[in-house]
Amino acid sequence: MTMYKCIGCGATLQSEDKTAPGFVPASRLTEEDVICQRCFRLKNYNETPDVMMESGEFMAMLNSIYEKEGIVLKIIDVFDFKGSLIPSFNRIVGNKRVIAVINKIDLLPKSTNMNRVISRAKKMLADEGITANETIAISAIKGHNLDQLLNLVSKEAKGQDIYIVGTTNVGKSTLINKLIEDSTGEKDVITTSNIPGTTLGLIDIPISETQSFIDTPGVVVDSQIAHFISPKDLKVIMPKKEIKPKTFQLNEGQTLFISALARVDFVKGERSSFTVYASDKIKIHRTKTETATDFYGKHYNTLLAPPEIEHPVLILDAETVSFRTTERSDVLISGLTFVSVDEDVQIDVTVPKGVEVSLRPSVF
Ligand code: GDP
Repeated sequence: MTMYKCIGCGATLQSEDKTAPGFVPASRLTEEDVICQRCFRLKNYNETPDVMMESGEFMAMLNSIYEKEGIVLKIIDVFDFKGSLIPSFNRIVGNKRVIAVINKIDLLPKSTNMNRVISRAKKMLADEGITANETIAISAIKGHNLDQLLNLVSKEAKGQDIYIVGTTNVGKSTLINKLIEDSTGEKDVITTSNIPGTTLGLIDIPISETQSFIDTPGVVVDSQIAHFISPKDLKVIMPKKEIKPKTFQLNEGQTLFISALARVDFVKGERSSFTVYASDKIKIHRTKTETATDFYGKHYNTLLAPPEIEHPVLILDAETVSFRTTERSDVLISGLTFVSVDEDVQIDVTVPKGVEVSLRPSVF
């Protein structure tokens, strides 16, 4: 019997297990161009999926790419740099050429210097041991720089397949849909949503007799803030449009809360400006460091919401990273915010345990 695949997520269609990937009623099993029930619900009702694949299975599918010929587009969410990195990426890629695609640049203020964004991204990738032959900044949603991307792709791929690789939520499906739409006029072939793990299986999208775009499973990495909050809350904290930065003048001994998910303590330094880049839905509060923990305990689901959280995570299950800046720098809290701080300040950044925090020379 021919096994068909869901045209939304690539999972093999089956009618035995409603909770497993690719479920459709038995009567539809032998039809072509079928979308599985899960993709149907995601697409039409934006419902949370019932199934989550284990990271091991995602990795196994990615590992299968290692053997194949082609080039890799490594998609990186500009707002979640660390959460965009796949462990063992080089092992997955083998000898293929890599184009690093920095996505979602529409979220950055218009005044942002894109050359700087790219050069910082290159440096951060190099620090992670990832070699990219080319790096480009795009917006899949707005279509910024897609022509340049396609030019790069045709130069690098030389007729070979193009594997689109990334962690979940970086915008792979959106990008591929856009590329398909541009070339065929068809819309929303691949499911997109805010929910981690939407894209299952490898999806082959032929663009000529011999060449395909291949969408790969979104790898779920634990450092993404998506794993600490519900899909509903993820929608709240993910900025949807150009971020309007908010600047606070702080003295040492003051603390900024970024919703109830992060706190930045100004430990030592001259009076300085702290500029927060985050979704406009997120409330930011300044308070004294001395009383900050009490403040948090009282207000974590009122003043410091949304999102609402089940328990006071910054008290019960948090970790603190300390930095001292030697130049104007951005503190990156994966998926939640960037905070730009001045030169020569000492800060403690507290986040839910496991969320990545890092420092880079400022791009702003
Ligand atoms: P995938 O899991 O990597 O396939 O990611 P999706 O394509 O499903 O996108 C995840 C979320 O990011 C969705 O809410 C998209 O609307 C959003 N997204 C994707 N590309 C962009 C972009 O260029 N700009 C912005 N602002 N959001 C994007």
